[in-house]
Amino acid sequence: MISLLVVLTVEVFEKLGLDEQKKASLLASQNRLSIVHVDMDAFYAAIEQRDNPRLQGKPVIVGGDPKQRGVVSTASYEARSFGIHSAMPSSRALQLCPQAVFLKPRMKHYKEVSQEIFDIFYQYSNMVEAVSLDEAFLYIEGDAVVVGKMIKEEIRERTGLTASVGVSFNKFLAKLGSDWEKPNGLTIFDKDRAQEILPGLKIRKIWGIGPSSEKVLQEIGIYTIQDLRNYDLGYFKDRFGKRAIELVLMAWGFDLREVNSSTGAKSLGEEITFERDVADRKILEQTLEEFTLALWKRMQQRGYLARTVTVKVRYEDFSTITRSKSLETGSDDLEEIRMLTKKLLSRIDFRKKVRLVGLQVSNLINVEEPIQLRLPLFGENRDD
Ligand SMILES: [Mg+2]
Repeated sequence: MISLLVVLTVEVFEKLGLDEQKKASLLASQNRLSIVHVDMDAFYAAIEQRDNPRLQGKPVIVGGDPKQRGVVSTASYEARSFGIHSAMPSSRALQLCPQAVFLKPRMKHYKEVSQEIFDIFYQYSNMVEAVSLDEAFLYIEGDAVVVGKMIKEEIRERTGLTASVGVSFNKFLAKLGSDWEKPNGLTIFDKDRAQEILPGLKIRKIWGIGPSSEKVLQEIGIYTIQDLRNYDLGYFKDRFGKRAIELVLMAWGFDLREVNSSTGAKSLGEEITFERDVADRKILEQTLEEFTLALWKRMQQRGYLARTVTVKVRYEDFSTITRSKSLETGSDDLEEIRMLTKKLLSRIDFRKKVRLVGLQVSNLINVEEPIQLRLPLFGENRDD
């Protein structure tokens, strides 16, 4: 069966006119599970339910006001059982489920939770591609299945939220995997399992095929991935051009796109708005010291050197100032960053009360080779 598959695959490669190098890398790519895709379950709604126990078990909708022209941003699983989904007009959601609790999004808060989750990702790899606040691909050097499980557990422990995880040898299949058993799922697609599940799937499961492409494909008789596999590839290529190759390769379970970690942070920052405006310089010093430590720790995890440190202060009258200082070369030396922060602080006028203080490190340089920072081992005690 597998050898037949290899024969078929090679035939497809021929028909697509791929060069030897591409063929070889496609075949080799199947041999190692290296990609983890993590997707939080009903992220915004789950955060609201976590933060307010009275919302647990209830249909919760984060998004626009149903009395105005808002749309659903995220629906809890309870709300989804009424047929409510993201991007649906909130007024329609209200019709489907009049008892639903509608909440305004608290983006700032969701971003903070997202930061916690990405901090976890960076413990396992510094090749992290953020897709959105609650979704990322990770390239894993070690055992991706073990890492996938550990990330799931750690997210649960640290944030009380659930994630669904897909593990595979490429991005397309890893993403398909995280969606396979939502919520709280963990799905592993090795090459055999991928070949079992792919043929029967609807064509829109191929990454990048949205409703309009789906319609076009259905018009020429392609409803499932098997239909695409059976289709006359020459004709398909003529009709869809360069994109055809990518689609056909995905139909056979191949995807050579790399985890693109260059979309990562160019700066890291922390800030706080005090409950009451602060006049005491000591408190500001203390706060900045905490921020220095937190940012330094994150830089360590991600293998960053920083060149620039910026202190931001917003006064009681809402006027805001920033003071920056740069080093000749990047540094991840805690003392050096601490000294810079202190110098900046000494240049700030504290005759007015302070409402907000922030610290940012920027001009970041990634010094790590794209390798895993912490190799997970069974039975090992991990320290954080
Ligand atoms: Mg999600």
